[in-house]
Amino acid sequence: MTAHIILLGPQGSGKGTQSERVRARMNLASIATGELFRSAIKGETELGKRIKAIYDRGELVPDDITVALVEERLDSHSRQGPQTELAGALYDGFPRTAAQAQALDEMLARRGEEITVAIAIDVPRETLIERLSGRRVCSVCGRVYNVVSDPPEQAGICNVDGGQLIQRADDTPEAVAKRLDLYELETAPLVGRYAERGLVVHIDGDRPIDEVTDAVIAAIMERSAAPARDASA
Ligand code: AMP
Repeated sequence: MTAHIILLGPQGSGKGTQSERVRARMNLASIATGELFRSAIKGETELGKRIKAIYDRGELVPDDITVALVEERLDSHSRQGPQTELAGALYDGFPRTAAQAQALDEMLARRGEEITVAIAIDVPRETLIERLSGRRVCSVCGRVYNVVSDPPEQAGICNVDGGQLIQRADDTPEAVAKRLDLYELETAPLVGRYAERGLVVHIDGDRPIDEVTDAVIAAIMERSAAPARDASA
């Protein structure tokens, strides 16, 4: 694994959607901490039980727990054989604090590797609030909808499997406001720190999903040797 790509952007900027699309088109492992936490909570693992209340309030899970989880994912991806060797890792929702950023630098340095690029997806706050409060997720397959911009064919029902659509516990107006404030306080400063190292590419995330995906892929291709599996896909 050589490319290490960070997706930075506030909640609702489309990091999750983009990381899913980009990962599928390039040979990258996705390390999405929010997803990892949601599956731990759903599976009622020890970790899930410890963090559920923190997660539901829209607060940040402690750095030591988060960093350990990321390192474990990185190790398990690195252990894959040469046949399935990945070109790199795409970090979605990590790092979110200065301590996590420092820990990521250290864990990559231990592997003789470093961050390739940090992509900042920029979206105005009003749009973020609109997107997050309208977001609904299938309780079965996890597909994401938006009641305004991407509604299901039948209200409240997933197009794919008929599952019930639910609102994430942290998409309530109170939790959304807290998460956006936390982003400004804890995570936005990381954009400046990475920019000082010449690592940041800004992308306008307030436009059609396909255009954003193309821009993210172009930025990664420019900064890394990660080959596209099928550039026309
Ligand atoms: P996300 O899906 O990225 O919006 O993350 C959802 C929630 O998971 C956050 O509000 C936090 O409670 C937790 N979380 C995700 N990533 C991190 C992280 N890097 N550090 C701390 N908490 C996180």
